[in-house]
Amino acid sequence: MSLLNKNRYLGKPLLGFMALLILLTGCTDPNHTNKETDPSQTLVIQHATIVDVRSGKLVNNQTITITKNKISHIGNSEDMDIPDFAQVRDAKGQYVIPGLWDMHVHLEENYKNAFPLFLANGVTGVREMGAALTNVDQWNKSIQAGMTTPRLVYAGLTLNGGPADEAPHMLYLKTEEEAREAVRHNAEIGASHIKVYSWLPRSVFLAVMDEAKKFNLPVVGHLPVEVRASEAAQLGFKSIEHLHGLFIATSSIEDELFKNADMSDLIGYSLAEIEASQHYDSEKANELFRTFKEKEVWPVPTMVTYFNMAKTEIDSRSKYVPTAVQEYWAEVIRATPPEQTELMTAINSTTPGMVKKLSDAGVPMLAGTDSSYEMTNFIYGVSLHDELEMLVKSGGLTPLQALQSATLNPSRYLDREQELGAVEEGKLADLVLLDKNPLEDIRNTTSISAVVLDGKLMEKQTLDQSVKTYPVIQVADTKVEPE
Ligand SMILES: [Zn+2]
Repeated sequence: MSLLNKNRYLGKPLLGFMALLILLTGCTDPNHTNKETDPSQTLVIQHATIVDVRSGKLVNNQTITITKNKISHIGNSEDMDIPDFAQVRDAKGQYVIPGLWDMHVHLEENYKNAFPLFLANGVTGVREMGAALTNVDQWNKSIQAGMTTPRLVYAGLTLNGGPADEAPHMLYLKTEEEAREAVRHNAEIGASHIKVYSWLPRSVFLAVMDEAKKFNLPVVGHLPVEVRASEAAQLGFKSIEHLHGLFIATSSIEDELFKNADMSDLIGYSLAEIEASQHYDSEKANELFRTFKEKEVWPVPTMVTYFNMAKTEIDSRSKYVPTAVQEYWAEVIRATPPEQTELMTAINSTTPGMVKKLSDAGVPMLAGTDSSYEMTNFIYGVSLHDELEMLVKSGGLTPLQALQSATLNPSRYLDREQELGAVEEGKLADLVLLDKNPLEDIRNTTSISAVVLDGKLMEKQTLDQSVKTYPVIQVADTKVEPE
């Protein structure tokens, strides 16, 4: 939900050409890349404690056999014969969870930093939420060339309305015809979902929903400010990012706000949301949450988004962030008026309550971060663990529920529960080996010992070696003294 844009506008005539290029470069799942797979390739993980993310049970002393890229067998280590040709990894005293998904990221042109960071942090899948077509083309080319990457699903261009502010990852749509064409374009470049943004007019939004259905593509993103959450849910809007619109939708003053509030920019919208949070109507909320469950609408709280944006210093863990980006962040932090930081802090104070209400009502959620270099203090991979921690600490989720929001729930959202989201026979072998029990303390998801991606074992040391590091700066370091 970047508020700032520093990139150049990508001219429309290029779109057709880019779409063709991307079609030629193919798809983005690790198992579909051109990497050679040895048919006898067998990896055996021994003596592991498997975390069952469905039940929250721990299953001790298990041997997980992985043939090529799939879990072919799981059984008690005492009863298992191991073939001589297998690669064996002892996981005694360790916990195995499914690979994590960050369900809201922006890769931009940062993929060379981002992909190794995701993997080093156990993130084996990401949902990209809007990018310039040049970027989509870059990732696809790198993947095609054999780069090791998490599984990637992407949106292509974000569909927005309002005055064009020349963001290269957005299309500014005015008519229904433009909307339909935009959906067709994203479908052509291999998008797995259509991302919409806050300023899309309601009539254009309805056209997007209708056209996307023809391509069997879910529509997700910022709930457009002209659209009520209840209407979007009924229409099958599949994920609501940043909890936008949910305070208004669950308040007794929804009608009044839709009639009178100035929601023509993000500040006005946020103020309306904060006001609405003072007028919570539990009956209305319960009805909305019932619809969410019925229609499978997934809230993506991205608690870490507002939290990061309210920080007034560079995160001390920013050694994974290129110096030029840290300098840009310092500049942004210095230029941020205190009122904006206050607003973010105010949103921060309302968000946990909504997460808790959704969770109490049994609405499953997705873990996402909004990671990007455009916004301050996001660290690819690291921020997802922050989000999980916040979902538990402030949002009131159990560690199991938080874990589900990054494993089982994404697999359901993606309609890929058959192959992803749990440590089970027949599934793709995307796993994370942890030194400590994540159900005891969700922060233990950071105790990573190894990652298995698409059947390939990567030890922590190797993962760390592939990650670049930089000196961490402070905002004051970059301060320009007036002459
Ligand atoms: Zn975003």
